Order: sequence, then structure tokens, then C-alpha cells
Amino acid sequence: MTMLEAKSMTAAEDVIPITSLDDTPQAGCHNSTEHYQAALAAGKSETLEQYAKDYPQGPHDQPQSMCPAFGSLRVGLRMRRTATVLSGSACCVYGLTFTSHFYGAKRTVGYVPFDSETLVTGKLFEDIRDATHDLADPDKYDAIVVINLCVPTASGVPLDLLPNAINGVRVIGIDVPGFGVPTHAEAKDILAAAMLRYARGEIEQGPVARPASASDEKAMPRVALLGEIFPVDAITINSLLQPLGASAGPVVPTREWRELYAALDCDLVAALHPHYTASQREFSKAGRPTIGSAPVGVEGTVRWLQQVAEQLNLDREALAAHCDKLRASISAVIAENPIDARITLSGYEGSELLVARLLIECGADVPYVGTACASTPWSAEDKAWLEARGTKVQFRASLENDVAAIDYFKPDLAIGTTPVVQHAKENHIPGLYFTNLISARPLMGPAGAGSLAGIVNGAIENKHRFEAMEAFFSDTGKGDSAGIWTPDTALSAGLLSRETL
Ligand code: SF4
Repeated sequence: MTMLEAKSMTAAEDVIPITSLDDTPQAGCHNSTEHYQAALAAGKSETLEQYAKDYPQGPHDQPQSMCPAFGSLRVGLRMRRTATVLSGSACCVYGLTFTSHFYGAKRTVGYVPFDSETLVTGKLFEDIRDATHDLADPDKYDAIVVINLCVPTASGVPLDLLPNAINGVRVIGIDVPGFGVPTHAEAKDILAAAMLRYARGEIEQGPVARPASASDEKAMPRVALLGEIFPVDAITINSLLQPLGASAGPVVPTREWRELYAALDCDLVAALHPHYTASQREFSKAGRPTIGSAPVGVEGTVRWLQQVAEQLNLDREALAAHCDKLRASISAVIAENPIDARITLSGYEGSELLVARLLIECGADVPYVGTACASTPWSAEDKAWLEARGTKVQFRASLENDVAAIDYFKPDLAIGTTPVVQHAKENHIPGLYFTNLISARPLMGPAGAGSLAGIVNGAIENKHRFEAMEAFFSDTGKGDSAGIWTPDTALSAGLLSRETL
């Protein structure tokens, strides 16, 4: 077993024994060298090479969370007047539709089924094209999104040959295979970028429709917000910008097509979630500069506003006065909502480093942050800030990394994905799910400063319950005390022989 060493914040000579990628089991539907090679041979090399640049793998090379295509599906389903169609194996589509409705999609997911014959003869592509024509009603839709899952991508189903538009309805085909896209967070970027690219092409052709949400107020520099943030955060960021004579533009991924034009028309892009590399490229092609990090806590908010002011050449005196007020107000909120605990944190949303910053400003000791996303230029500042405070930051963290961090640091609370939280609870450590309980809260500015203390402190106060459960159940449910042992199960497990029965 190889070891990945990480410095502890408390003892520099200590190391966390974290299993490396080499030890990660190469099982599961996501990992398919065979599919990858087939896709290359079937003409998808350009797409896969671009994904490899946009979403570099490593240390582990496979998603350990949900099917990556869920990210693209979710972006399509949240957009008004947009139809989303999946092309893939029925079992994959079942899982994806189940998950999307679990998260409240309340929208129809289109599906073009296939069998081995339609796949190898090319009939599947014709079926997709026919389905797209049937759907293309301009009274109902601005756009149709078609998503190739693993098998159609590996088979080279050429979605790029679909018409660009049918009856005025835009058609966007993307490949989102588990063997080329590491996380569902990055799959959000794939669709968001494809839409931005399309919208940019429309803008280059001539005037485009005005966004329904556009206001008539005096034009001021606007900042497009990149990342699927909690809705209140967009309002908070706007209120942070207004005193400086700037405003927040649309959030990308957008909720309607016309917002794409407004986003591309912004003066600056804030990569609040740093893994939207392909979307950032589209903004860059439109001549829009990008800044990283986000306005979290006192230091994060002030630094972020300074970057905005620098990029947009805003009034420095107004900035200084505004920052003084914010320092006082955010500090006051933090003082009222302290966190005195050791917390390990991991997730796959892309906002993990921001949450860690906020926890530390609230007083928490955060020795480890793991994110399933890769390092990008827009996460560099947060990484440096955290490392300066002794936090081990692990990009492309594996489940094994996250679990090892819990075992090593023995936190008062583990925030993480489902299996990470399960591991914590098995060891009578309180756990909170990142996606459901932490991501679904404001983080930015004064509104975000106090949002974590209640749930974090509440969870930590419940530690005695885990200890009571541990004492009551002891080893029941673990190892050979798991399940019901009959002579048959003992025999099949090799614990008994027929002679001893
Ligand atoms: S599309 Fe690929 S990654 Fe997603 S569930 Fe199916 S096989 Fe797994």
C-alpha cells in the first residue's frame, strides 16, 4: 500500500495514513477503460481530450459519487422552456430520473431507448433525431438538450450531427460519460458551457432578445456569478456590490435562455465555484475577465470586493468605507455564532473550500478539506488561505482520503458525503451531509456568516446520543455479528464445516 502523506496542523511530523488512488478499487459502472478506448475509436477523441484538459483526473481516476451525467441533467431540468433528453442504458436512465425527481425536478425527462441492433446500425442516432424533431415546438421550448450517457458515447453516437435548430428551437447535444467526466459538478459545467457557446454564437450573428429579468435601472458594471449557488447568496452578492456602483448579473447555470446573453454581456465573471473551466473559457472568448474565490466571512468578503473593484475600476474611497462597514457587521454576526470544534469536511459540490474558510473564521479547527473536484486557478486563493492556517486541502479526494482524515484527526464533527458521514457515525462521531445540509444554506457576506453555527453546534451537541447508541449496540452489526447467522450462512461463509454441524 502506498501512503499519501499530509502534514497535520498540530504536529508537523505527523502524517495522515491515507490510501492512495492506487489502492482504490477499480469497480463500478463509472470506470471503463474499455468504453474509453471504444469512444476514442468511435470518433470521440476530440471531446474526451478536451474533457481531460478541463477536468484533469487524479489522484483517483473515477467518480465515487453519483453518475456524473446527473449534473448536466439537473442543469437542463432547472432551465425554463428547455427539454432534456437522455440517451443511454435503461438502468442508468432509471437511476438518473429517480435522483432528479428526488431533488424535486418536477419535469419530464425524455428518453430514447436503444438495443444492440439500433446501436450498431446507427438507428439510435436516427431515433434521437426523430425524437428531437417531435419535441421541437417553439411554443413550448427555447432549447432541447440531448445527453449521451456512457454506452452511446462509447459507440460514437454523433450528436454533433443533429440539426443546430429545429423550428427555431435550439438543439444542444453533449457527451457526458462516466469514463470521461470525473464528477457531476463538472458535468454541470459541460452543459452550461455548451449553452454559453451557443448563445455566444447567436450574439456574434446579430442582436439577441432582451432578458425577461433585465431592469431599466441605470447601467452599472455587472458581475456574472458562476456556480450553482444558494439563491439568497445571489441577492446578498448584489447587495454587497450596489454600494460600490456595481451589481450582480445572472447566475450561470442560468434559469432561462436569455439570461445567457445577459451573463455574456457582464463586465466581470466571479467563479464562485471554481470548477466551471469550460464555461470560463466561453466568457474568456467573449472578452470577460474572471476572478476566483467568493465573499465568505470577513477576510473573504473584503478580499473579493477588492478584486471586483480592481477589475471594474470602482471608486477606492467608497470601497474602503464599504469594507470597514462589512468588517464590523460580519464580525458581529460571527461573534454571535461561534463554533468551537474540530471539523473535517469533504464533498463534491465545488464549494468545500469556501465552507471551510467560513468555519475557520467562526472559530472552528478544520484540519482537513477534501473536494472531489480538481484544482483550478480559481481555487488557488482559497487553497493558499486554508493552507496558511494549517488545513490539509485535498483536491480530487477519494472516499479513502476522507475516511482516513476522520480516523486520523478524530473530529468533533465530520461534514461529508453519505459514505463519509456513515463512517463517522459508525465511530460515534456526529456527521452532517454536505449536499443536503450545508450546500442548501447561504454562505456569502453577512447573511452567510451566521448560517452554519446553528446546524454545526446542534450536531455536535448530539454526540452523547452516538455514544449511547455505540454503548448499547457495541459490535452488533459489524463483522461476524452482522445479520442473522444460520448454519447455512455460517457454512457459506466458511465459519463452520459440515463435519462440525
Ligand atoms: S451513464 Fe455511465 S456513469 Fe452514469 S450510471 Fe450509466 S454507466 Fe454509470
